[in-house]
Amino acid sequence: MARVLVLGGTAEAATLAKALAGHKGCEVVLSLAGRTADPQPVPVETRIGGFGGADGLGSYLAAERIDALVDATHPFARQISEHAAQACTNTGTPRLVLLRPPWEPVARDDWHHVASENGAAECLPASARAFLALGRQRLAPFATRADVWFLVRTVDPPDEPLLPGPHLTVTGRGPFEVDGERKLLETHRVSHLVARNSGGDGSYAKLEAARALALPVIMIDRPPPPAAGPVVPDVPSVLEWLGALMP
Ligand code: NAP
Repeated sequence: MARVLVLGGTAEAATLAKALAGHKGCEVVLSLAGRTADPQPVPVETRIGGFGGADGLGSYLAAERIDALVDATHPFARQISEHAAQACTNTGTPRLVLLRPPWEPVARDDWHHVASENGAAECLPASARAFLALGRQRLAPFATRADVWFLVRTVDPPDEPLLPGPHLTVTGRGPFEVDGERKLLETHRVSHLVARNSGGDGSYAKLEAARALALPVIMIDRPPPPAAGPVVPDVPSVLEWLGALMP
């Protein structure tokens, strides 16, 4: 019986956990950081919270007799990925990274590439009405732009205002549909979309809506990829890799 730790927090991790649930050859533990108050239930053992850095994760791998680790975290969650790489090297645990491919612009897209949220905040013009499709942890750089109105979407309703300046918070959990995204942009007279190049299907609709409305997109490019090691783009490829480990 192979024990597999899946580092999650993404739709792909949940899909992988569901695919492995009940598989006779493996036991799966899904690990979540605990950022979402009410994560979607998955039919496998789930643990929540940090490990205490690379050393803590290494100790966990040894104590729980983990045979393989699948890093299915978000493309922008680089710290946990670096910790996983280090912990697996230290403990000799096989590691696979599941990394969805980035989005690419197509005809009629008007993307402006920046390297960070700071860069995005700087390049918004005065009096813009910007949809920040970023998550609440990424908003701090926009606090200085009191001359811009912001639309913010969060999974859980915030307990307090997310920005000091003019803004509106709406709640929603993906996957999102194009019609709904277009209506959201139109209703709030959004002039700019600020997004990170997360890739995947669940949040692509906002880009299609922006294209349909000819809105400029401030696209925050991905940080450098995780440390060396095998990387696959989808769940079937992970199952293939795990197949070699499972009896
Ligand atoms: P991060 O900066 O890479 O990680 C910060 C710390 O959170 C890590 O050092 C680790 O704490 C803990 N952590 C992160 N993911 C964990 C996991 N799956 N299981 C246990 N501990 C975890 O990550 P982040 O950007 O804050 O994202 C947190 C989680 O949300 C990730 O799991 C990611 O998949 C998910 N997520 C992130 C984004 C995003 O935009 N970054 C978007 C959607 C979902 P210790 O050092 O104590 O182990």
